[in-house]
Amino acid sequence: MRKILCTTLAVSLLVSGAVMIACGPGADAQSTGGRHAGAQDPGAEPPTRDRPERWVDPLIGETIHFTDAQWRTRLTPLEFDVLREQGTERAFTGVYADNHRHGVYRCAGCGAPLFSSDHKFESGTGWPSFTRAIAAGRVATTQDSTLGMVRTEVHCARCGGHLGHIFPDGPPPTGQRYCIDSASLDFDAR
Ligand SMILES: [Zn+2]
Repeated sequence: MRKILCTTLAVSLLVSGAVMIACGPGADAQSTGGRHAGAQDPGAEPPTRDRPERWVDPLIGETIHFTDAQWRTRLTPLEFDVLREQGTERAFTGVYADNHRHGVYRCAGCGAPLFSSDHKFESGTGWPSFTRAIAAGRVATTQDSTLGMVRTEVHCARCGGHLGHIFPDGPPPTGQRYCIDSASLDFDAR
């Protein structure tokens, strides 16, 4: 019995470890409450956040800045952890991994358009995945050397909010996988 339990635990740790590495550090980052807190019913339509007052199409190149105190008043604890402190929501807990509706994914911090449902694909990772950004200049990247590996971190070009990472194992036509936290996104259904 003990052997079976240990084997099960080892397999679980291996699986969770692999998933953490797939999308980033701090994969246990989460908050209690709020729409990101738990896995959703597979048959339920994902909720959207009604914050259209933030939904703007700014000029590419425009930037905005808020203090941490100001961000905390605009964001939920989980959103702040992901967007402003480069946290990562737990796989399969975000609301947009299984969202199949047509629309634009906007920055949860500033409302800028970042990704289109046209470029979303099923990665099986538990995080919303895209082959590209909605347009050149909407997102920016930096090299992330945490966890003993070099990865490409992707953030909103307008407000600097952390979105996730880019991996070179996506499907055609780009071959790239933008692994994005649902907590970083608002969904603007079209
Ligand atoms: Zn933004």
